[in-house]
Amino acid sequence: MNKFTKITASIGPKCEDKETLTKMIQAGVNMCRLNFSHDTGDVQGKKIDLIREISAELNTPVAVVIDLQGPKHRIGNFETEDKYPLTIGQKFTFDSDSTPGNSTRVQLPDSDVLGSLKVGDRILLNDGKIEMKVDSVKSGKVEATVLRGTEIWSRRGFNLPDTEIATSVLTEKDRKDLEYALTKNPDWVAISFVQKPEDIAEVRDFIVARTSHPVKIIAKIERPNAVERITEIAAVADGIMIARGDLAVEVPFEKLPAISRHIIRECRKMNKPVIMATQMLGTMVNSEFPTRAEITDVANTAYLRADSTMTSEETTIGINPVNVIETMTKILAYADSDAIANPYDWSRVENVPENDWSRSVASMAYLNKATAIVVFARDTDIATQISCRKPDIPIVAVCRESLIANQLCLARGVSPIYDEDLFAKKDAFNSARKFGVNEGKLVIVDEDRISLRTLD
Ligand code: PGA
Ligand code: MN
Repeated sequence: MNKFTKITASIGPKCEDKETLTKMIQAGVNMCRLNFSHDTGDVQGKKIDLIREISAELNTPVAVVIDLQGPKHRIGNFETEDKYPLTIGQKFTFDSDSTPGNSTRVQLPDSDVLGSLKVGDRILLNDGKIEMKVDSVKSGKVEATVLRGTEIWSRRGFNLPDTEIATSVLTEKDRKDLEYALTKNPDWVAISFVQKPEDIAEVRDFIVARTSHPVKIIAKIERPNAVERITEIAAVADGIMIARGDLAVEVPFEKLPAISRHIIRECRKMNKPVIMATQMLGTMVNSEFPTRAEITDVANTAYLRADSTMTSEETTIGINPVNVIETMTKILAYADSDAIANPYDWSRVENVPENDWSRSVASMAYLNKATAIVVFARDTDIATQISCRKPDIPIVAVCRESLIANQLCLARGVSPIYDEDLFAKKDAFNSARKFGVNEGKLVIVDEDRISLRTLD
């Protein structure tokens, strides 16, 4: 069986040559994530060209996902590159003064951040290894007490879990990066540190003002205020990423699994695909084998019927990116087939109206023991909605535009094909056969017409 759960692979120095990337796509990569926190401009542009070239050669749709850095905050420079000691209980000041920092103060270069902090807010630096609490806020100056951490040094990143930051979700850098990326017609753009639904509207306006190319938007959920408003955000975004890296710093880490399950449930209701991200096979940066915990995490993502897993450093800087994808595919394919043998009860889907037609498609497939659903996909909506009913049989999406096929690479269980001829002839049988479905009943969906035919 082909896996149903998709793989989003981060592309970086260890996997951006043609041979490695080709092998990774053959091994099961569906979406390639280009992280603009690292390379930008033409360096990323060349990678996009390469992904398109390989996708055409293999005749396999592959999505290009632009991941914008977003307002990732960093403290300023210190007097030297050394580590400066901190003691628990000491005072530490953040200000707007660009004088290099020391053990008692440093600049916060972003004035929006300085102005947003309130008394009692936590400041978590260096992936949460340092925790401080704000004692007082004066104009241009924030005084805090150190609660955790032993050393601090130049340009550490920090997270502010308690603070609604009054800043645009697109930084100057993001605007430049997105402007460039749009010239390369990406399939998806992922937005970091989303806080509210209006952030998605802002990005969409930015895109629509520059191109008529209908690029889709993924909201990265990595802030507590975004978790609180997940339903509203999922309503306006086209996809969601559970960005566990920053999320686990900003929320108490023990809540991470519960929050992840909640996000997956909400996305299903809102008909939006969802990616589980970060440290899925993290130890494979340096190892040929995953840990038992990683195997279980990847499999559980399939059992939860999320749409995609993701790789990060394990493919960008790891010792064997192809092995990472082969390992992930093996785990997902087994978990997916086991999940199907122990089926999900589609009728439990909450809040999907009884008369929702995607529910009718799924129930028709279920009651007739169909072997596949074939959708003639003019856009991504119909196939994505059916995917969100989790019918646990292949959904073959026949597309007349490569963009639609690429965008459907994210939806769980959807096998997109870009084939104008099959689309024009409405050839459901040969479309199903392309994915190894050679017998049984097919539920065929063409716009609002649903039919049932036995493959012969
Ligand atoms: P990042 O996003 O790697 O761009 O920070 C993913 C995450 O935070 O998990
Ligand atoms: Mn992040």
